[in-house]
Amino acid sequence: MAQQDFAYDRLAHDVHDLMRSISNKLIYAVGKNPATARSQDWLHAVELAVRDRMVEGWMATNHEADLSDAKRVYYLSMEFLVGRAFTNALLALGIHDQVREALRGLDVDFDWIVDNEPDAALGNGGLGRLAACFLDSMATLGICGMGYGIRYDYGMFRQQIIDGVQVESPDYWLTAGNPWEFPRPEVQYRVRFGGRIEYQDGRPRWVDGEEVLAMAYDTIIPGYATKTTNTLRLWSAKATAEMDLSAFNRGNYFAAVEDKNHSENVSRVLYPDDSTQSGRELRLRQEYFFVSASMQDMVRRHLQNGHGLSSLPEHAAVHLNDTHPVLAVPELLRILIDEHGMPWNEAWPLAQRVFSYTNHTLMHEALETWPVDMLGRLLPRHLNLIFDINADFLGEVNKRFGVDVELMRRISLIDEHGERRVRMAYVAVVASHKINGVSRLHSELMTQSIFADFARVFPERFNNKTNGVTPRRWVAQANPALSALIDARIGRDWRRHLEMLSQLKPLAGDAAFAAEFRHAKRSNKLRLAERIQAQFGVMLNPDSLFDVQVKRIHEYKRQLLNLLQVIARYHRILADPQADWVPRTVLFAGKAASAYHNAKLIIRLINDVAAKINNDPRIGDRLKVVFMPNYSVSLAELIIPAADLSEQISTAGTEASGTGNMKLALNGALTMGTLDGANIEIMEQVGEENIFIFGLTAPQVADLRAHGYAPRQLYESNPMLREVLDAIRDGAFSPGEPGRYQQIYDLLVNFGDHYLLLADFASYVEKQDEVDALYRQQDEWTRRSILNVAGMGVFSSDRTIAEYAEEVWHAKPLKL
Ligand SMILES: *Cc1c(COP(=O)(O)O)cnc(C)c1O
Repeated sequence: MAQQDFAYDRLAHDVHDLMRSISNKLIYAVGKNPATARSQDWLHAVELAVRDRMVEGWMATNHEADLSDAKRVYYLSMEFLVGRAFTNALLALGIHDQVREALRGLDVDFDWIVDNEPDAALGNGGLGRLAACFLDSMATLGICGMGYGIRYDYGMFRQQIIDGVQVESPDYWLTAGNPWEFPRPEVQYRVRFGGRIEYQDGRPRWVDGEEVLAMAYDTIIPGYATKTTNTLRLWSAKATAEMDLSAFNRGNYFAAVEDKNHSENVSRVLYPDDSTQSGRELRLRQEYFFVSASMQDMVRRHLQNGHGLSSLPEHAAVHLNDTHPVLAVPELLRILIDEHGMPWNEAWPLAQRVFSYTNHTLMHEALETWPVDMLGRLLPRHLNLIFDINADFLGEVNKRFGVDVELMRRISLIDEHGERRVRMAYVAVVASHKINGVSRLHSELMTQSIFADFARVFPERFNNKTNGVTPRRWVAQANPALSALIDARIGRDWRRHLEMLSQLKPLAGDAAFAAEFRHAKRSNKLRLAERIQAQFGVMLNPDSLFDVQVKRIHEYKRQLLNLLQVIARYHRILADPQADWVPRTVLFAGKAASAYHNAKLIIRLINDVAAKINNDPRIGDRLKVVFMPNYSVSLAELIIPAADLSEQISTAGTEASGTGNMKLALNGALTMGTLDGANIEIMEQVGEENIFIFGLTAPQVADLRAHGYAPRQLYESNPMLREVLDAIRDGAFSPGEPGRYQQIYDLLVNFGDHYLLLADFASYVEKQDEVDALYRQQDEWTRRSILNVAGMGVFSSDRTIAEYAEEVWHAKPLKL
């Protein structure tokens, strides 16, 4: 990689300098002798040496932000799926080559050490990864942004596949230490749970209950090719007292630390599910814990900078990534009203100018609600404030729309059907001056479905911000082969200006470019195949079509539909072995939430089908199925550049946006997709003729559900489908336990599954045949693949963040 072409070169990143600082770090910070240091020790030493080079920019950014009174953006998210930081830092600083060389000078192999870095897997999937891409883009664009979240001791569980079954184990990501974070023991806040409300001179105060300390850990977020360096501040729970010494002295060792453990459990684990409520009360504690510390921290900073509280909205924008951080709303009100004596009439409009909210799902079961009872027990003052907000809001609606009891019932922040529950999404909508969906379709459906009433009350609040992904990690870092090729043709600036990729369009028909492009893709496929061979002993054919579906395992994402098609293909190959089958390798990866029975059964079926097909000598390399365990950011970086075909096959109307679809198309995979989420916008950008679209549209899905879906009829009238489903039902893939998948058959054929798999099956199979036909014409496939890359420029998270900054946060870039 050549020296980067940006102005920030004040530091001489000279190789000798680096060599000296790496060995110093190894000896004086890690405490190891170069002669006996392990690869892990070297990695830490290099990380510390590289980190030093980011600290100055970091301090300069904070200094400049204070000095210029820049508006700060606080991005509140329960999840940050950051992945590895080392190569990302090298890329941001533009010192990749120098570090490699410095290590060589010290007789250490770069590749030997990098794989020691664990992923920071503080997220489940797309929502958490989006937060990570946004941090990268905010820093790169010079927006003074800060991520606030939880420093989970254990991140997303590790997934192993044992005998085809998902087995979960804890993710011990911190055991070897985390050189990227700075503990801030001086930054601690008290967070209260339980207790009661006391009135002093008519003023409410929340007292008693238990207190937990939230301690800050700061992670540096470097921008690419800029001095702007932001912070991800994660909160860790600490007990207010280390232990009960008197209990200890009496020999009650367990009791002595019981309270401490109870308090500190708050930041122990990431819940392995972002779509359903789980862990209940502990999860609610987590949500309050991190937003309370964050709001206290924000208000402290604002006051420390010499401002009065009434100017908070000019200096701070707080963004709610989904509803998990919604308690920040009553928490800010509590701080303003109870602690600073601001009157309600001033505090409430102020809060509305501070908050904005992104909705991530329309699925009913994924919309967060909390029982009024539980909330009142744990956070009595906040429940009160939510009632106050509700009264204020319903009063206003009454005034504007007249008394409409049905409307009141529908839009009340409290769901009164059965057990009373607080509707967190509604609190977010009422408290935010802007509310956005994450793709055009999703934003439209949002205002027609779950927020239809609110869209009438607050039409000016609703807007769309189509998601994006950072081209630094998802192309420059993950796909060096393609990056070098693009650099050679259009220069290096696409990393910051992804729309430049459109300059590749004229090259789609250029034979020399196409050959190099194909070569880059093939080298990525080989890289993946070698890793799979090392891990599983299966050798894949790099010339087969790599057909990839990587994402959380969920019924709405329809991995099962993909598998039905795979089984159909298997049967067809057996029935017609002489035909000219395009060799295909179907790759799956993804985790299922631990309590999600159907998703786990789907994983098992994928593995059972893989075992059967891969070991059937009649099939050869015409079809291979691989389930790669432990999907993570690092694994995504390996798989995505190797993909030929990207499976984005959710039931139309269910996938809010998708970002996996963007990463894959950006790396040259052609999309096989439904008209769902951002697939629609991808189609518009890359051209209808360069994407495979199948299946029902969102209105057709709604129509079919309303007028009766008859899956058995589809099953009976399509012999290919019938053969597939019968094979699953009769134990063809589970001969040792023939009934293992009966429930899948029943779900699809007898009960009529909510995601309408059989309705889209025929059109899916037909499109897959078109894929084969196109893949036979390698030149044409490559041409379309290049046009996909060239069309994906708008899906940079830089574009998304620029829109948020301009239209939602009103935040301007810092000038350093
Ligand atoms: C991008 C990404 C996702 C989101 O994928 P979708 O296909 O949009 O669901 C999930 N997990 C990881 C590790 C990712 O990098």
